[in-house]
Amino acid sequence: MLGQLRRIVQDVAQEPVLQSALAGLVTSIKQALVTECCSVYLANYEQQHFMLMATDGLNRDAIGNIAIGFSEGLIGWVGQREEPINLAKAHLHPRFKVTPEVSEDRFSAFLGCPIIHHRKVLGVLTIQQAAERVFNEDEESFLVTLAAQLASVLANAEMRQAASESSPSQIQTGQLKGLPGSPGIAIGQAYVLQPANDFNAISLKRADDPEKELAHFYRAVKITKAEFNRLAERMSGHLPPDALAIFDVYHQLLDAASLGREIEQQIAQGWCAKSALKRVVEKFARQFDDMDDAYLRERGTDIRDLGQRVLNNLLDTEQRKIKLPQQVVLVAENVTATMLAEVPREQLVAIVSLKGSVNSHAAIMARALGIPAVMGVNELPLLHWQGQRLIVDGYQGHILLSPVEAICQEYQRLISEDAELNARYLAEIAKPSQSACGSAFNLMVNSGLAIELETTNPEYTGGVGLYRTEFPFIMRSRFPTEQEQIELYRKVLECYPDKPVIMRTLDVGGDKALPYFSIIEENPFLGWRGIRLTLDHPEIFLVQIRAMLKANLALNNLHILLPMISDLAEVDESIRLIKQASFEVSDELCIELPKPKIGVMIEVPSIIYQLPELAQKVDFCSVGTNDLTQYLLAVDRNNPRVAGLYDAMHPAVLRALYQLAQQAKGLQFPVSVCGELAGEASGVLLLAAMGYSSFSMNSSNLAKIKWLLRRVEMSELALLLPEVLACQSARQVRQHMQRFLDQKHLLSQLRA
Ligand code: PEP
Ligand code: MG
Repeated sequence: MLGQLRRIVQDVAQEPVLQSALAGLVTSIKQALVTECCSVYLANYEQQHFMLMATDGLNRDAIGNIAIGFSEGLIGWVGQREEPINLAKAHLHPRFKVTPEVSEDRFSAFLGCPIIHHRKVLGVLTIQQAAERVFNEDEESFLVTLAAQLASVLANAEMRQAASESSPSQIQTGQLKGLPGSPGIAIGQAYVLQPANDFNAISLKRADDPEKELAHFYRAVKITKAEFNRLAERMSGHLPPDALAIFDVYHQLLDAASLGREIEQQIAQGWCAKSALKRVVEKFARQFDDMDDAYLRERGTDIRDLGQRVLNNLLDTEQRKIKLPQQVVLVAENVTATMLAEVPREQLVAIVSLKGSVNSHAAIMARALGIPAVMGVNELPLLHWQGQRLIVDGYQGHILLSPVEAICQEYQRLISEDAELNARYLAEIAKPSQSACGSAFNLMVNSGLAIELETTNPEYTGGVGLYRTEFPFIMRSRFPTEQEQIELYRKVLECYPDKPVIMRTLDVGGDKALPYFSIIEENPFLGWRGIRLTLDHPEIFLVQIRAMLKANLALNNLHILLPMISDLAEVDESIRLIKQASFEVSDELCIELPKPKIGVMIEVPSIIYQLPELAQKVDFCSVGTNDLTQYLLAVDRNNPRVAGLYDAMHPAVLRALYQLAQQAKGLQFPVSVCGELAGEASGVLLLAAMGYSSFSMNSSNLAKIKWLLRRVEMSELALLLPEVLACQSARQVRQHMQRFLDQKHLLSQLRA
């Protein structure tokens, strides 16, 4: 059953034309369940009806012609109840609606199942039979499982269809909806980067010139065969002859008599070379996957491996032809720091990440760079983006594909307005960081990408409130040496003489992976991350601390911050190692070292409840609202599916932050906030109202936050706080804050 189910869903996902996908779907289901009729109806919300889109069993002439209102008939009822309805005598049911055009009078049994994606009913899947019987549990669970899996495939199907019908030269306009990752608007051309060529990234496309596609394919096969010859030669002394035989098999498979012929046929039918390869490789690989014999099943892997190599060679030729556009919108499955380094800063105008969410590190990097980003837009296969002109609206989380000129002009106007607002904020950058009534704030920057990218002059900041050391680690292909780290940290510390620079020890894991130190976990955000990893690898931790201490010589502005602390024992152990590193450096250089201040990130809820003990052990703490929100609400900050639930303005998070501020004040324990909330207009006002006065943010936000804080009185924030803390949802909190900003005539001057 499972194999059948998977095959049906894959067939639908693969077929670029929605109508054919649905026609194939109903026939496959009918055969799999050995029933007499299967149909699919899709919802049209504008017209408020379900339309019959495909059937195998009812009158086919009714396809595309029969619409059933949302509150009509059994189909409407399945949609309303949002659950399966299983009836032996459907025609006797009071909700049954006679629709002569579909000719269903011979069927009695009816099982209808809603297709629901993200709480929205997309359609209804039905099976019917002449016999008066209730469909059994196996049949019902098959249909329910299938409908659940189909939902996301169908949700993306229309966009895929539009994509497959357009050739790159054709103008195809459309809007894609993702999540706002970093505010701002940009117009540019998509430039796709991918870690490895992957069949999932290939959208099926037709081509006009089969001859050209064939030549393209033959060339890739020729290069692949030459690669195999080289590999076989290199391995011949090391592998037994039967293992080497795999290369002969690959050669044969690529020959005209085998996979090669099928691919040629697909190209002759009008598919481009990549699509033809994908269709054939996936078809054969799946046939092997479903075989009972373990040896034969493994051959599916060989076919995929072979296909992957040919695909790499096909794409290599294409990629070589692609020039970096003037205005780059970097598009990738998961934008990484290394990818950002591949595009010159002055050409990079926006980021689109197919995966990830609002507080993924890719989004944080975009905010640090001050460029718009949209996250979690996975409707289009990766390679289809290549070369498309795009408008990226990082405020709304929208992307406009190949927009017409009039729309571009409208967005260009918004870009100019943004620039004017920015100029307004920057005009006050040198003024004191204080409220309208004179209450002082310490505004620091979050850093780590590359110090030369920071947009705010260090003179106008209170220092670095969070230096994320992991980025330099991620950009390399091995752990940086002590000397490399010293040079790096020294540069940062030198940029801020006489101001604190809070360097966080390595915080990898979660959504920050080191390319050379793979961590594969089921639950990475709850796993081996931050301090947990470095305490298990004291050699990494000690080298980093030694490098920090040496970089700090004669500057003495280093503060050390420990990430992901959830337990006091981790603090003790970290302090022990810091002392050890300090002793070693002191011994090596024969000098007395100054003791840097040590702090702890408050980002795991457990540590909020151990603040008195923590205050005895370390000098300061810094609140990481990004992770604190994730762990308090149990919402993965990186998962677009639950992005709607992730909100640092959730009343529970705000109450925890308030409690923390009060407790820290009572303990006289210095506290600052370095999570993204501190760089948000409403967020910083609420934090200030709670009593926080030290904030660290992306430098692109600093001027705006200073400008805003200079326009509020502490007394009005004090009145605002209890009203907000009494709200019942993040939405209510945001609305309340909007009203406050509006009343003060600030809202229109703060787009984000
Ligand atoms: C945080 O969690 O709020 C934080 C500042 O750290 P990061 O975003 O790097 O996890
Ligand atoms: Mg964190």
